[in-house]
Amino acid sequence: MKDRADRLAEAWGDLVATARRTVTDGLVVGTSGNVSCRIKDLVLVTPSGVPYDRLGPADTTAVDLEGRQIIGTLRPTSELPMHLAVYRSTTATAVVHTHAPCATAVSTLVPELPPVHYMTAALGGPVRVAPYALYGSDELAAHMLAALRDRTGCLLQNHGTLTYGDSLGQALDRTAQLEWMCRVWLTASSVPGHAPSLLSAEQLDAAADRLRDYGRQG
Ligand SMILES: [Zn+2]
Repeated sequence: MKDRADRLAEAWGDLVATARRTVTDGLVVGTSGNVSCRIKDLVLVTPSGVPYDRLGPADTTAVDLEGRQIIGTLRPTSELPMHLAVYRSTTATAVVHTHAPCATAVSTLVPELPPVHYMTAALGGPVRVAPYALYGSDELAAHMLAALRDRTGCLLQNHGTLTYGDSLGQALDRTAQLEWMCRVWLTASSVPGHAPSLLSAEQLDAAADRLRDYGRQG
């Protein structure tokens, strides 16, 4: 049985590794994204403005669900309101926020990512774009929550992405899938004289059923 300190240290290690992955995978430039995970009533979160490759075990940063700092002296990310809003409203245990380039481009063009691929179903259906609000604001967190209804990810207009999951790996994978679908739509819709074909609600429902079966088997 691991004690609390071991669990915290392991979770912080996972969180820093995930934050570094967002940079190496091209989803984030510098420290412009942020990552969090929840252990009971504690939310571990990347601090504001510290390059991820400089984060070590001594930099562990955690807040409670009201945003009060419980562990660490570094300032939590300015996007904390979005992370806390997800944890208060869902069963998520991990949240990833990025400024991934194709997703951010799509967020300036449409109110919803057109369903060009069946992986749309893996995020709960066509991915909505939360209307723009100032970063770090409660207003942005409210827009994001509305866009996340029945979804595990959304775009933030003129800003980026937010996804959540049962683990840091799942939340990160959802961000990568979302960014990839945005790239596919941008690529297909930029061919002059052609418009991409889109999947119907029935086709997405069938894909969702199959993805659930796949999840059970795999
Ligand atoms: Zn941001």
